Amino acid sequence: MTLIVQKYGGTSVGSTERIKNVARRIAKFQSRGQQIVVVVSAMSGETNRLIALAREVQAHPDPRELDVMVSTGEQVSIALLSMALMDLGIKAKSYTGPQVRILTDSAYTKARILKIDEDKIRADLDAGYVVAVAGFQGVDEVGSITTLGRGGSDTTAVALAAALGADECQIYTDVDGVYTTDPRIVPEARKLATITFEEMLEMASLGSKVLQIRSVEFAGKYKVKLRVLSSFEEEGEGTLITFEEENMERAIISGIAFNRDEAKITVLGVPDRPGIAYQILGPVADANIDVDMIIQNVGHDGMTDFSFTINRSEFTRTMDILKNQVQPHIGARGVIGGDRIAKVSVVGVGMRSHVGIASTMFRALAEEGINIQMISTSEIKISVVVDEKYMELAVRVLHKVFELDHVS
Ligand code: ASP
Ligand code: MG
Repeated sequence: MTLIVQKYGGTSVGSTERIKNVARRIAKFQSRGQQIVVVVSAMSGETNRLIALAREVQAHPDPRELDVMVSTGEQVSIALLSMALMDLGIKAKSYTGPQVRILTDSAYTKARILKIDEDKIRADLDAGYVVAVAGFQGVDEVGSITTLGRGGSDTTAVALAAALGADECQIYTDVDGVYTTDPRIVPEARKLATITFEEMLEMASLGSKVLQIRSVEFAGKYKVKLRVLSSFEEEGEGTLITFEEENMERAIISGIAFNRDEAKITVLGVPDRPGIAYQILGPVADANIDVDMIIQNVGHDGMTDFSFTINRSEFTRTMDILKNQVQPHIGARGVIGGDRIAKVSVVGVGMRSHVGIASTMFRALAEEGINIQMISTSEIKISVVVDEKYMELAVRVLHKVFELDHVS
């Protein structure tokens, strides 16, 4: 018998009507003889509502208490879905993360899954139940509720699929797959039938918000077959996330990703000596701030400049750390920064075997008069930082120059 883990996001369970719809879809799969575990998010808007409520009481809500609170959104969804399934005559049972025992570390609001006790779920499946599991949450060793970070239900689904050895993990969402870029910016964007894990990781980390990045990492690591599909369409293959070797016939570039949530910081006049990168980024890492691009120039006269990007929401905090702790400590000349930037990237495994991608990209941007502020590359990606106001133009131009536009 095949075992499928399905995940439905907030929009798909956004009302009781939609929850009943999800129940009907599940009924269809079950009638084909598939065992089903369903992971659901909170009803759309609910997590935001809960966070706002917490902030009304405490400006920076205590992370442990915030997790106690926001985890309730998913708890409502699993109960409603189980009821809807029962109403269709289907045996159903719900579990919160702690009830399953999805064991995590204690990093509240961004906990990592360590272990899943899947025995209860397996027994329920064998007894003919559809099992509904609350996404986004777990429990740490001492029994405190934790959450996995925004969008964490995807990771719950993939982790469960890995733990149960499921045949496929299907992520149902409000789009019907992964696109070459956001169709709201480029109407000619095309749905990809397949994309490799590596490309998907790059796309996700670059701000394509179809899947939580951790879920893709997890799926790659545990070889979970992962598919993104629409919960509003009856049929459709969605986008299958594959391993490269299965997929030789493909375009050089798979997609154009972008991210507006960026800010850049430059530490000016840094002494060019061993340990400097560590002295600058150590305190930033200690404050749990993720650093993305890092650029250090060639030194001259014993001095250099050091630039990096971070999430825009961490801009003020990072500037404070640099100005108050780092600058006096290392004797840098100054710290400057800006949060009106965006990152635009071309992604494709084909870059490994083709030259000239970077020059095509830079020429296309130059022809539009778009100034490149920073550049970084990996084997399968080239990213540039540009002024936020040119982001959409850059995405459109690159989509076209790499021939991703839909030809009708
Ligand atoms: N409800 C959580 C969020 O809005 C988790 C999820 O939807 O995956 O981030
Ligand atoms: Mg989501």
